[in-house]
Amino acid sequence: MAKTDAPQRDMTSIGEVANPPFARMPDPLHLFSTRAARFRYLAEGHDLKSYLLFLASISDAQHRAQEGLPAPAMPEPDALGRAREFGMPALDRTRVAPDPVFEDTLERVLALIEGIDMPEAAAAALARLRAADPAARADMVRSVLDYAIPMEALAEHLYVAAALQVHFARLAACLDAGALVPVGDGVCPVCGSPPATSMVVGWQGAHGTRYCGCGLCGTLWNYVRIKCTLCASTAGISYQEVEGGPGTVKAETCKSCHGYVKILHQHVDPAVDVIADDVASLGLDLLVREAGFRRGGENPFLVGY
Ligand SMILES: [Zn+2]
Ligand SMILES: [Zn+2]
Repeated sequence: MAKTDAPQRDMTSIGEVANPPFARMPDPLHLFSTRAARFRYLAEGHDLKSYLLFLASISDAQHRAQEGLPAPAMPEPDALGRAREFGMPALDRTRVAPDPVFEDTLERVLALIEGIDMPEAAAAALARLRAADPAARADMVRSVLDYAIPMEALAEHLYVAAALQVHFARLAACLDAGALVPVGDGVCPVCGSPPATSMVVGWQGAHGTRYCGCGLCGTLWNYVRIKCTLCASTAGISYQEVEGGPGTVKAETCKSCHGYVKILHQHVDPAVDVIADDVASLGLDLLVREAGFRRGGENPFLVGY
């Protein structure tokens, strides 16, 4: 494992300090198709090739499921105003109840996933989920949203999580980024999730700044660099990476809470994806965990790894 020194603060060059927007909303019609392409690119020659290709096909299903899907029901403006006033997430994942549009989204995602070439166990899990009654499905939705995915039914919950990602990204896309407020360190201002990963971006006007990426709703929110996204400590932060790796994925480890979240270098490779690059860099998780750090990133496709 290679250890690198902390990078420079949020400056692009001497005298130029970026003025980044607080949040960037997801574009659901772009998010999943781009992610599918990234999974396919990362799969080439990878030890996890079959899993990465499977997730590429899941991403395709997430993209295609949206065609002709009715718009999701947003909370009333009053409720959004209250959330903003009290510094609460606009669409808190622990409070949002699935609506008929979500049921439709799940049904479509499952129907599209059925056409994917997959191992027998994954197909059996899909069949069980498709046969599950509404109450059993609602329980699974609750488990995903409450970070309580049971290990003995991982695959079923992975499919439910995929549908929830579509639903929450479509909800998030209806929000105005300018109306969002910070709700706490390392907490998505839209849905209240911890980040899947964070990334240093190369965007114009925000070059060199860092954004946390939500694994549920796809929102990106600005977060100062060299600061733990789990406990907000600015002391004892270091960066680890796999020796001989691409240099675009590091683990930001924290000596205060002994946790880590990966940091992607989007300014180096504009194609990095908060979910796909996280899964494809599982080798980094293994190294950092061996060193005694616990994973803090929230990515439904890495539960159980
Ligand atoms: Zn979110
Ligand atoms: Zn920490």
